[in-house]
Amino acid sequence: MDDFTNRKVLPPRSVQEALDLGRVYHDQLVAAMPGLLVHCNDTILHCSATLARLLGYESAESIQALPGAMTLVPEDDRHTEQDVYTRCLKGLIRSQVRRIKRHRADGSVQWFDQLMESVDWGGRPAVMEMLTLMRPLAANAELPHQEQLLQAAIDAMPNGVLMLDRDLNVEGANSEFYRLWDYPIGMFPPGTAVALILTYNHARGDYGDVPCEETVAELCSRYLVKGVFNSERRVPNGRTLDIRTAPRADGGYVITHHDITDRKRIEDELRQAKERAEAILKELRETQRQLIVQEKMAALGQLTAGIAHELKNPLNFVNNFAELSGELLDELLELLEPLNGHLDDATRVDVNDLAGSLQGNLRKIADHGRRADGIVKSMLAHSRGGGGEWQATDLNALVEEALTLSYHAFRAQDRAFNAILAKHFDLVVGEVKLVPQDVSRVLVNLFTNSFYAIRKRQLICGDPTFAPRVDVTTFASAADVSIRIRDNGIGMPPAVIDKLFTPFFTTKPTGEGTGLGLSLSYDIVVHQHRGRFDVSSVENDHAEFTITLPRAATAVSLGERRKT
Ligand code: ADP
Repeated sequence: MDDFTNRKVLPPRSVQEALDLGRVYHDQLVAAMPGLLVHCNDTILHCSATLARLLGYESAESIQALPGAMTLVPEDDRHTEQDVYTRCLKGLIRSQVRRIKRHRADGSVQWFDQLMESVDWGGRPAVMEMLTLMRPLAANAELPHQEQLLQAAIDAMPNGVLMLDRDLNVEGANSEFYRLWDYPIGMFPPGTAVALILTYNHARGDYGDVPCEETVAELCSRYLVKGVFNSERRVPNGRTLDIRTAPRADGGYVITHHDITDRKRIEDELRQAKERAEAILKELRETQRQLIVQEKMAALGQLTAGIAHELKNPLNFVNNFAELSGELLDELLELLEPLNGHLDDATRVDVNDLAGSLQGNLRKIADHGRRADGIVKSMLAHSRGGGGEWQATDLNALVEEALTLSYHAFRAQDRAFNAILAKHFDLVVGEVKLVPQDVSRVLVNLFTNSFYAIRKRQLICGDPTFAPRVDVTTFASAADVSIRIRDNGIGMPPAVIDKLFTPFFTTKPTGEGTGLGLSLSYDIVVHQHRGRFDVSSVENDHAEFTITLPRAATAVSLGERRKT
């Protein structure tokens, strides 16, 4: 303050004198403002001696000699500052207070509170900055009251909060933010570029092997997308954070971090429990389905046995009388032989024709009767009273024997048939307690079906390079032994697989199949031996049947099972 009472009372001087006096006052005033910096484009028009000292320069002149105010701005901030200066010069910004940093002469950085105005400096538009030294933030009490309120409010929030300005520099963060990310409190003071935080995260291994620049660029670019976005991050300390970024009206961002580790854990536990419950339900449904099938098969088996018994007697009569009639006809023809000479030619031809037809018919009756007898015998096999003995049996040997037997039987009917038989026997299988005659019957059924299927495919496709093949594998686990038979025959569509074990279900032409083979095999494996039958197939590619027998099966005869 300058007391100019005396000057005031002096009589008015000339205009020039008054102007000179005004300039002196002005210069004194300007010199008295400690943090004043005035500049315009590349020229520093004025810098107070105090500010020069604060920035580590010898005098105001050495600052004014610098090539523009931008020299004092740290490189990271130049882009933003240039923008602010330009807008201020154009008069677009008035009286803005900001917190900024400036380079000192020794290269260190000093934080200031800055009041910026556009001014007319001797006829030139210029930027006037009033810089006041900012004390370290440690003493919160020194922060302006509004800021203290804001800091207290965000510190009290249960979520981590990070504020970024429009150029992605930190403006502030609360203690929860530091805790969630395991950063030492205050590690990233205002002005720190967010890229620096991300680089720090990268250095401590948060992003794995992804190259640092890529990660930082990718994450930074996410902030710049306008609009709210959410992401979920698992941080190395094991926490899962729900991160929400919301843009502010002034171009900056508020990023909140919500710890959802517990919620995630509960969700995981719930999902696992749901999966377990679903698996149990699926198992229950499968058991229910198998029970229904078993019941159906048992009922059908009983019915089959009943019908077979009823048919057997009349069929015996048909077969016996057909045979007897044939013999009687032969005898009759022998007796009539001497009378042949007494018949005229036409009558003799008629008699011979009739006798021939009668013989042919009787042969057909005998043939079909035999077939019907075969079917009835198969049907009766369902109700056998468990005649076979339970014996410890070398399973591999049993499988091999059944394979050889079926192959030769099949070739006896079709000499042109050849197939590759690949055996993969696991010696660990060893001896298993079972009814060898019955299991052998199952195996013969399966092998015969496989030979039929591969022969059929060979005949249908007519490809000379097609190699019919049957693979037989045995393998064992602690409690079970399994036999898998796979052929590359015609395979089955799902509709056939569904009905496979139903008695009398066959796709073979009349005379070639009874449709009882698999139903009987099912009974032997599932009911008698308490085992399992698994089937898989792709039409025109393969069919695979797997029998699994428990090592410790309890003897149950087919007849006994039916009674239960
Ligand atoms: P059958 O052999 O007398 O027809 P099965 O009960 O043994 O009676 O078989 C029933 C049906 O299952 C067969 O007609 C056939 O359609 C189908 N099948 C069985 N084994 C195979 C196989 N290896 N490849 C393709 N289809 C098969």
